[in-house]
Amino acid sequence: MTSATLEQLIMMVSYYLSLEEVETIKKAYEFAETMHKGQTRQSGEEYIVHPTTVACILAEMHADTNTICAALLHDTLEDTKTTKEDIAYYFNQDVANLVDGVTKLAKMNFSSKQEQNAANTRKIITGIRQDVRIIIIKLADRLHNMRTLQFKSATKQQENALETLEIFAPLAYYIGAYRIKSELEDLSLKYLLPSKYQMLEEKKKSIEDESDAMLKAMLARINELLNAKNIPNEIKVRTKNIYGIYKRLNEGQKLSDIHDLLALKIMVDEVDNCYRALGVIHKEYHPLNSRFKDYICNPKTNMYTSLHTTVFGPNDKLVQTQIRTFDMDKIASFGLTAYWDLLKGDARRVMQEDLASKSQFFTSLVELDSMFKDNEEFVVQVKNELFGEKVYVYTTNGDKIELPKGSTIIDLAYKLGPDIGNTMIGAKVNDEVVTVDHLLKNDDRVVIMTDTFSFGPRKDWEGKAYTSLAKRKIREFYKEKIAL
Ligand code: MN
Repeated sequence: MTSATLEQLIMMVSYYLSLEEVETIKKAYEFAETMHKGQTRQSGEEYIVHPTTVACILAEMHADTNTICAALLHDTLEDTKTTKEDIAYYFNQDVANLVDGVTKLAKMNFSSKQEQNAANTRKIITGIRQDVRIIIIKLADRLHNMRTLQFKSATKQQENALETLEIFAPLAYYIGAYRIKSELEDLSLKYLLPSKYQMLEEKKKSIEDESDAMLKAMLARINELLNAKNIPNEIKVRTKNIYGIYKRLNEGQKLSDIHDLLALKIMVDEVDNCYRALGVIHKEYHPLNSRFKDYICNPKTNMYTSLHTTVFGPNDKLVQTQIRTFDMDKIASFGLTAYWDLLKGDARRVMQEDLASKSQFFTSLVELDSMFKDNEEFVVQVKNELFGEKVYVYTTNGDKIELPKGSTIIDLAYKLGPDIGNTMIGAKVNDEVVTVDHLLKNDDRVVIMTDTFSFGPRKDWEGKAYTSLAKRKIREFYKEKIAL
């Protein structure tokens, strides 16, 4: 959707909000329309089309009334003579805070190195701590701007695309909003590497056409088998986004190696039936044992849950199947924002709580925020350590820990807590004793041995650590020691 109307918005929100709430949304529309009167977008359209489309993107996620109102009003503080007090008066304090939050994030430019911009980037990223809905509105705003990027100058296109890829797509990923993340990535790639994008798009299309009949046959067969077992289900074909393919090829994989380019998404009613469905599928199609993943008992660090198994489909074609409940699927597509739909009134609180308790991105963010007073330094660290490539390792109990790629045992120890880092005397990876500067790889099983009588970290550990957290803690240890 690139230019939505009030009628479309009303239709969407009427589906899940009360008449009274829909009236409030109409009022917000009229307010925004009046304030933006006479303003046009670069496309030539009336300005109001933009906030209305942003509101529709959020209505698709079943956002609450205040969020929809804030989306409609999100550019009024910046571009019109409206004040925060006006919004609080005509609507309520929550809407006013949301609009104010989004406005404060507005003027940022990640590609420039100025202190001002670093400060704004910091606001964007840490805004998630205040109220995650601010970031979600911002993501919807960016999504619409990316969908209509053709009206901007070539320089702006490059700048926005890069910023979207570096900041907004990762943010969408970290709140688990895969749909937004995928679309943002593809739109960015389209502007950054247009010919590459087109080539991949065509290749993907031809693979889809080739596999269509086979996948549909498999889909029908699985549906039949699940029905026979009385497992309520819905099955869809899901394709990887273009950027996802691009990334794999860049890592040196061949197109034919990407087994999850096309996948069957099998949705069932409850968790137990995910495992029953898995059994049904494995009986019918031989699984590739090495490619089974249980993200239900072992969720991804951004809260994604599902079973993944790659099987030999018709004609020995490898096909990935993803098995999950309908609720898990909502969370897989919309992340935290799925709670709007799943939990209704309680959504806001649970979103914020889940973020604080389950998201390792969030805890790392809080750490970096407290460690770096300087804005530019903070932004550089976030880019390197939070938005860069990751490794995932297991610690005792099979807990999964997310670290930036390049991390060593020392980094893991400090991530688990300063006491563990400061008392570490050795470590084992996959049952083998290793040195503390051992580079961590995905799925390593790590046991850290500590001794409360240890002399503390060695001075040369600072140089062997990768993360700023570990380096900082080692320096602090020596500062305190000198002070004593
Ligand atoms: Mn906007």
